[in-house]
Amino acid sequence: MRPVTHNEKIKVVDAPVGLTGEGFFATKLSEAVGLARSNSIWPLPFATSCCGIEFMATMAAHYDLARFGAERLSFSPRQCDLIMVMGTISKKMAPVLRQVYLQMAEPRWVMAVGACASSGGIFDTYSVLQGIDQVIPVDVYVPGCPPRPEAIIDGFMRIQDLVKSEDIRRRESDKYKELLNSYGIQ
Ligand code: SF4
Repeated sequence: MRPVTHNEKIKVVDAPVGLTGEGFFATKLSEAVGLARSNSIWPLPFATSCCGIEFMATMAAHYDLARFGAERLSFSPRQCDLIMVMGTISKKMAPVLRQVYLQMAEPRWVMAVGACASSGGIFDTYSVLQGIDQVIPVDVYVPGCPPRPEAIIDGFMRIQDLVKSEDIRRRESDKYKELLNSYGIQ
């Protein structure tokens, strides 16, 4: 069998929709920014329990989230684009999660990983938050208890789709402000 060459292993992302001619390529600023952002997402892992272990597997060599340009984990909310909430969030922890979200700069995205972060999971109790969307807006939910690394990667790719197609003016829009207002965020 013919060995795979180094160049064949490299997958280049598709160019955005645009106009091609001899010696030029024109596209919208939003498309170019979306392409760059979606392939350089810096995640902040907010891991509180077992789903966090699945995330460790997702970052490790076999699944390797770095392939998506997301190897730079940020434990500072001011330097990340995507907060990945993985695990059971108690009601006591909810204000902390919200505070971390508020410290992130725009544009920011949120992923609820696993049943607990999405809906409280099996812990329908007085002390557990029944889904992080009660305190912050969520972009993508990943089902499972725990979700396998493939599911986490799939959720991450859905985030990439959102990032890629987001208009750069969305964050200034009334609709987005309305969404934040509904969470009491100015
Ligand atoms: S969804 Fe399941 S695996 Fe994930 S934190 Fe909750 S109990 Fe643990």
